[in-house]
Amino acid sequence: VAANHYLPEITQPEAERILWERGVVLIPTGSVEQHGPHLPCGTDTFAALAVGRAVAPRVRGLLVPFGPLGVAPVHLGFAGTLSLKPETFMRLFRDVCLSLTRHGADKVVVLNWHEGNTPALRTVAGELQAEGRARFLIVQVATLAWELFGRQTGLTHGGVIDTLAMLAHEPALVHLERAVNPSPPDAAPAGDAERQGRAAAYTLIADIREIAPTGWSGDLAGVTAEKGRALLAQVADAVVKQVEAVFGR
Ligand SMILES: [Zn+2]
Repeated sequence: VAANHYLPEITQPEAERILWERGVVLIPTGSVEQHGPHLPCGTDTFAALAVGRAVAPRVRGLLVPFGPLGVAPVHLGFAGTLSLKPETFMRLFRDVCLSLTRHGADKVVVLNWHEGNTPALRTVAGELQAEGRARFLIVQVATLAWELFGRQTGLTHGGVIDTLAMLAHEPALVHLERAVNPSPPDAAPAGDAERQGRAAAYTLIADIREIAPTGWSGDLAGVTAEKGRALLAQVADAVVKQVEAVFGR
C-alpha cells in the first residue's frame, strides 16, 4: 500500500495501469479561503488531498489533482479568499471527469472538504451519471470527520476538525498560538445546520461574518498533531469502507 497513486507524481504507464485495473478515480476538492489567523488558506484543499493520499492505494484508485479552488463566496469578505463561480467549478469538474472516463474510469469518488462545492458537484455528477459515463460516490470528508471525531465540538469553520486535519497534513503550517479570536459559539449551530443542509428551513448566509464575526469559531484546547493523525487514519478507514460498499473490493 506504499505505492504512490497520485497522478502528478507518477508516469503515464503507471497511471494507465491503475486506471485499467478497476476504473476507480479519486478527486479531492477543497477551497482556498480564509481560515482564521491560525490555519493556512488552503486548509480544505490540503485536508482533502491528505485523505486522498491515504485512501487511493488502499482502494487501488488513481488520485487526481482537481486544482485548489472551490466555490467560496461567503468568505470573500476576507483578503486571501479566492472563489470560483459555481459554473466555473462545474465546467472544470466536468472536464476533469470526462478526461478520466475517456480512459476507462467508470467509478468516481469525490472527496469534498468544502460544503460550498456541494451543489456544483452534485449537479455535474448527476449529469454525467445520467449520461452513463460513470457512477459517482460523493464523500463529504469534513462531515465524516466530524461524525467520527468531533460531534461534541460542532463542525465549525476553522475549528477542531479543520485544525486536526491540517496538523495531520503539515503541523508547520498551523499556528495554534495565534488562535486567540474565535467568534462566540452561540451562532455556530445555526451555521452548521445551514452549511450541512440538515435544517428543514434556512436562509442562505451571504457572508461568514453573519455567524462568525472573526471568520472562524471553535475551541482548540487539547488539539494535538497526534490526535490529527488519529483523525486522518479514522477518516481514511471510513472512506475505504464506503468505497468498498459502493464499488466492491
Ligand atoms: Zn471551506
